[in-house]
Amino acid sequence: MERYRDELAAEIPEVDLWCGLDTAPLLEALARRPEGGAGGEAGSGPAVPVPRRPRPVSAYLKVSDGCDRRCAFCAIPLIKGDYETVPAEEVLRTARAQLAAGARELVLVGQDTSRWAQPGWGGMSRLLAELAALEPGPTWLRLLYLQPDGIDDTLLEALATHAVPYVDVPLQHASGAVLRRMRRSGDGAAHLALLERVRAALPGAAVRSTFITGFPGETDAEFEELEDFVREAGLAVAGVFVYDEQEGTAAAGMPGAVPHEIALERAARLGELIDREATRFWSALTGRETDVLVERGTARAKGTAVGRIALQAPDVDGRAVLTGARVRRGQLVRAVVRDALGYDVEVVASTGGP
Ligand code: SF4
Repeated sequence: MERYRDELAAEIPEVDLWCGLDTAPLLEALARRPEGGAGGEAGSGPAVPVPRRPRPVSAYLKVSDGCDRRCAFCAIPLIKGDYETVPAEEVLRTARAQLAAGARELVLVGQDTSRWAQPGWGGMSRLLAELAALEPGPTWLRLLYLQPDGIDDTLLEALATHAVPYVDVPLQHASGAVLRRMRRSGDGAAHLALLERVRAALPGAAVRSTFITGFPGETDAEFEELEDFVREAGLAVAGVFVYDEQEGTAAAGMPGAVPHEIALERAARLGELIDREATRFWSALTGRETDVLVERGTARAKGTAVGRIALQAPDVDGRAVLTGARVRRGQLVRAVVRDALGYDVEVVASTGGP
């Protein structure tokens, strides 16, 4: 929609407001609507009821926007433009407001978060340290969308000190030849070496990734390299996307288009393999004691609450189903993992709750 707004507006004139990634115009329009509506301006109606939402346990904190990289398949730089850092002061101000509103976890996002830096102020390591030192501080800090070549020892040390042991690194493929065509670096061996460094710094870390099947020219042998990598990588979770040509990108019109059915079949095969491999990661947690951040509490000692352990990110990963205690939303509870069911874990509170 961001890229084709003018064409869409011309073709569908009955739409009153086009609102894409920037939701401010929509919020402004809603705020302008008169209460009751009768006799209001053309197009006005009854006030839109604003649903009451519980205070968020996790809040997203945008640290950058756009991207200077030019991966051959990706339209994001065309949509959002070049990389722009959100200034430290603004990130910290937003974080304070989110924490004051009840957030217990801050999830730092951007297209290329490892690259965050402000000249004269410092980089992501200092930003993490400053966020961790806020009062009241976050229970958990989580950093998403780390590009593999941006994960250096300084960043790993900062993650080990201030953040949860969770590394979200979109690898996209493991064949060096495919990655070159994607205009990305590395190969399966380099990815494995990176994961070894990650695990040395963050023992037991959950590693999340994403992969693309059917990129132009992807051969059976190159796809099998990706499967071999997944068998060795010990990933906790990964998303699989079928290559989808995006207008204006370097890969659009690239020779060697992979038939869609083959790309789909490879995605299904890879997805099943990832599920099987991930089972080993989650099952190995059985019997371990861990923290659970409660997202839906229970007032009954025999009730069931829902939350996440630190190895699970909000919205995209599995969840922890907690029994054995009365717990409140936003509470951090010690619990033992009783079982793993796919990407979810069953946990039992170590104590009887508050
Ligand atoms: S895939 Fe990620 S790193 Fe590559 S251009 Fe798109 S946003 Fe940037």
